[in-house]
Amino acid sequence: MKPKEILLNSLLSDNKITLSELSAEEIGDEHLSTGIETPMKANAFAMSDEEKIKTIANHFTQIMETLGLDLTDDSLKGTPQRVAKMYVKEIFSGLNPANKPKIALFDNKYQYNQMLVEKDITFFSNCEHHFVPIFGKAHVAYISNGSVIGLSKLNRVVQYFAKRPQVQERLTMQIAKELQAILKTEDVAVIIDAKHLCVSSRGVQDINSATVTSFYGGKFEQEATRQEFLKYLELKTNY
Ligand SMILES: [Zn+2]
Repeated sequence: MKPKEILLNSLLSDNKITLSELSAEEIGDEHLSTGIETPMKANAFAMSDEEKIKTIANHFTQIMETLGLDLTDDSLKGTPQRVAKMYVKEIFSGLNPANKPKIALFDNKYQYNQMLVEKDITFFSNCEHHFVPIFGKAHVAYISNGSVIGLSKLNRVVQYFAKRPQVQERLTMQIAKELQAILKTEDVAVIIDAKHLCVSSRGVQDINSATVTSFYGGKFEQEATRQEFLKYLELKTNY
């Protein structure tokens, strides 16, 4: 099945996708987001990680007990604590700006002024509407404006934003905007090709579909530059 592609450039111009006309149910299964910024409460970091883990573990105990599970069972009794720790320290650690990767830039001494493409960056995220996994590949590219970034930092930026409850459109734009800010250039492109378990394991149970989102900034809005980027993504490698 051909993946549906969503172009995000037009959404970026006003920073807001108006969803107020839609009900929560409609938004949930259409997987739309409300803006580029992850919606956070003003006091999001008033609690320490340890306090958050304790609170979430208590609530998760309630969820499991409500479902009728017996938490005195050896296999289940540690689950609330495990889930809470995983949420705060791993899969949602990207909500905390303190965990944002520190990025050092280098002078572009070798005057490399062509496109740099980092492709097939594997990421794992979670759908913010169902809290089930989204996973796939991110491909990012930029054209240096005098500075270059360590290659692994491109992966780290992708991972940081993936470790939040997400929708794929917002993830794509958050990565693109961050790279534009770090690299001080508009010339950034991001493509994400991902599977959503909320589509394949529940709901319509379509196991074959994939979702592709793309962002093309600056020179990447030109057809030739965009085609060059897309051609690199098709290169077959034998290593
Ligand atoms: Zn979902």
